[in-house]
Amino acid sequence: MFMFSTDVFKKGINIFKKYDVCPFCNNKMYNPYFIGVDAAVLKEKNVIGGGRRKAGCSKCGSSDRERLIYVYLKNELNVFNKKKLSILHMAPEKNITQKLLELGFNQYVCGDLFTEGYSYPQHVRNINILNIPFIENTFDLIICNHLLEHIPNDIDAMSEIFRVLKTGGTAILQVPISETLEKTFEDFTITNPTDREKFFGQFDHVRIYGQDYSDRLRSIGFKVNRVNIHNEYPKFGLNKKEDIFVCSKF
Ligand SMILES: [Zn+2]
Repeated sequence: MFMFSTDVFKKGINIFKKYDVCPFCNNKMYNPYFIGVDAAVLKEKNVIGGGRRKAGCSKCGSSDRERLIYVYLKNELNVFNKKKLSILHMAPEKNITQKLLELGFNQYVCGDLFTEGYSYPQHVRNINILNIPFIENTFDLIICNHLLEHIPNDIDAMSEIFRVLKTGGTAILQVPISETLEKTFEDFTITNPTDREKFFGQFDHVRIYGQDYSDRLRSIGFKVNRVNIHNEYPKFGLNKKEDIFVCSKF
């Protein structure tokens, strides 16, 4: 008697199942795995870009927010055809970094604040975002994906990014952001990891950004364009609620 193996049976089901395609590895994402931390406060405040969600590519491990920046850089900014660019990538994500390294830009600097006990790939330099070791107007493009929510004096960090960005350059400055909070919630008396997790959703976060995030960026001189590309790219496993904060210096 002929019998379907479980694998064939699963594939049979998948033919009819909707799926997204990972823009990094072309994996058909039938069943993305869970990523992110499960924190009550993130649900309560409808924080986009944080919290536990089924968004990890089972083949390359890319996250939804990594795919979003990748698609934007490649398809909207056309960065892959602009090899003369100088790029600073802070807290660089593995998959984006790998692609950008392969492309061979004029300058591609990856920076992270080195923490004792952690190891970093060879291409990553120890860079404090509050004191970026480059002169002003150095970079055409700066990518900083989910870093500012860790920095108590985020305005100083934004100013540093602004300083080293070239006039006419672009900075992509992503943070987890609450849909419902009008005003950013921060309280610098909350310092221990357990309380930070309770109030900010992660042990090392110092705030939950609200809808006034753009105002902070504007306050130090950026022109901010808040864009959503999900409708243009509905099949790349992007979070349809996640906007991109495209900041320019004029
Ligand atoms: Zn993938």
